[in-house]
Amino acid sequence: MSDCLFCQIVQKHIPAKIVYEDDRTVAFDDINPQAPVHTLIIPKQHVAAVQDVNDQDSSLIAHLLMTCTKVAKLKGLAQSGYRIVTNTGRDAGQTVFHLHLHVLGGRHLSWPPG
Ligand code: AMP
Ligand code: ZN
Repeated sequence: MSDCLFCQIVQKHIPAKIVYEDDRTVAFDDINPQAPVHTLIIPKQHVAAVQDVNDQDSSLIAHLLMTCTKVAKLKGLAQSGYRIVTNTGRDAGQTVFHLHLHVLGGRHLSWPPG
């Protein structure tokens, strides 16, 4: 979608600090990091949120999670640990309506989230 911020990042029309990319996903550092490592993993195809992935595209979810583990390894978090989060809808505070998984790490993360 041309008016979608993350589609613009996929198309390289808006700059981002890309840390990993493959045929289906892009990973880039969050512009407003909430932890020493805060990277977003997105599908190249526009999907608004995780609940909008079709049954035919369910392998995309696995691919996104595998990309998260690759990014965590690249960022040196595999031993210390990290959190994978996807905010969905208003109550979760989703602000960008292009599916994204947050990978957060590099400090102790409290639980439960607020
Ligand atoms: P959410 O609130 O889960 O929808 O997360 C959206 C995330 O996108 C927030 O953590 C923002 O800081 C991040 N964000 C917004 N614009 C950009 C951008 N241009 N580049 C990187 N991250 C961004
Ligand atoms: Zn989009």
